[in-house]
Amino acid sequence: MSYLSFLECSCCGRLYDARELHTVCPACAKPLLARYDLLRASEAWSRHSLLGRARTLWRYAEVLPVERQEYQISLGEGCTPLIRAGHLGELLGMDRLYLKDESLNPTGSFKARGLSVAVSRARELGIDGVVIPSAGNAGGALAAYAARAQVPAHVFMPRDVPEAFLVECLAYGARVTLVDGLINDCGRVAAEIGAQEGWFNMATLKEPYRLEGKKTMGYELAETLGWRLPDVIVYPTGGGTGLIGMWKAFDEMEELGWIGPERPRMVAVQAEGCAPIVLAFETGSESALPWPDAHTIAAGLRVPSTPGSCLVLEILRASGGAAVSVTDDELTAAQSRMTRLEGVFACPEGGAALAALEKLVGNGRVQANETVVLFNTGTGLKYPNAAVPSDAARRR
Ligand SMILES: *Cc1c(COP(=O)(O)O)cnc(C)c1O
Repeated sequence: MSYLSFLECSCCGRLYDARELHTVCPACAKPLLARYDLLRASEAWSRHSLLGRARTLWRYAEVLPVERQEYQISLGEGCTPLIRAGHLGELLGMDRLYLKDESLNPTGSFKARGLSVAVSRARELGIDGVVIPSAGNAGGALAAYAARAQVPAHVFMPRDVPEAFLVECLAYGARVTLVDGLINDCGRVAAEIGAQEGWFNMATLKEPYRLEGKKTMGYELAETLGWRLPDVIVYPTGGGTGLIGMWKAFDEMEELGWIGPERPRMVAVQAEGCAPIVLAFETGSESALPWPDAHTIAAGLRVPSTPGSCLVLEILRASGGAAVSVTDDELTAAQSRMTRLEGVFACPEGGAALAALEKLVGNGRVQANETVVLFNTGTGLKYPNAAVPSDAARRR
């Protein structure tokens, strides 16, 4: 089933045993990446063998870290639709604009991908308590998969998190602690209390397997587009896990012989009130500095610093991509356009991706005839003021 072979530090290259529980690299504290025996996989596994498989991300089990099938904890995550955005495309003069609609995942966001895989692997390695800091969707996704696995879950969220995210965690039976501060502060408290209590820390890029779940977005794009990649991918970036994951998927698929060396230009989108990656990209830095006083209504983008910033910046540059910030007004207006013109209830983060694409088309960085994929990373339903004025409904 799985061709998992070892873990490799993304920074210093040291190798670790994948059958042991690991968080970050013990030597340099940077993220660990799962490596597979792709040569052996390519001999036994072909693109065609995917055809009859279940429509969940577990169809790519050979390149996922779970070794025994009974440990796959699944709620039907992945295999989200890639829909043609005809009306938005018309507005932008584009013929091949697509939306990858991640709102159709369990718990309404692509966080389900990472947490399905990470909770599964943690269970397989014997974990019986998990903790996570979350700006919004990660908490709900962990809570759901922990409920399915019957593992106690502890979620640390900012005190001002939109209420639906909190309700969701509580509904699944997770214990929630509200912290004065942002996701980074939650991360600190979660790590501290988690270590005391013996809970495994599921903070993104602080363990190797949420990335593995999110990389399946890259496999799906290639499979859906007939084993070709789009010219441009526009991705609302908080921690950057999905962006790093997709890039890893492209490299793996090339090693498997499934795609060639072509790569899309990767675009990271952030909110102007919290744009550490954009600033680092523009100033030519190798890593991002923590963003002071982070604020944006796009909860998933309110991430003032990420352990993956070097990796994200490297990918943006290697791909000839870009980093773009948009204001909350711009992303809210675009959220509404995406929702009304395509029938996809976009989250503010998805709106940010559209607003950024509009800028890139406007300044000629993206051409009208290119194939572009916009990520709508979650549902708009969890945000209280989802681009709808409060007096919009007629009463009688
Ligand atoms: C977490 C999240 C993001 C950011 O994802 P990363 O892969 O961590 O950059 C974007 N949008 C939504 C809705 C999210 O929940």
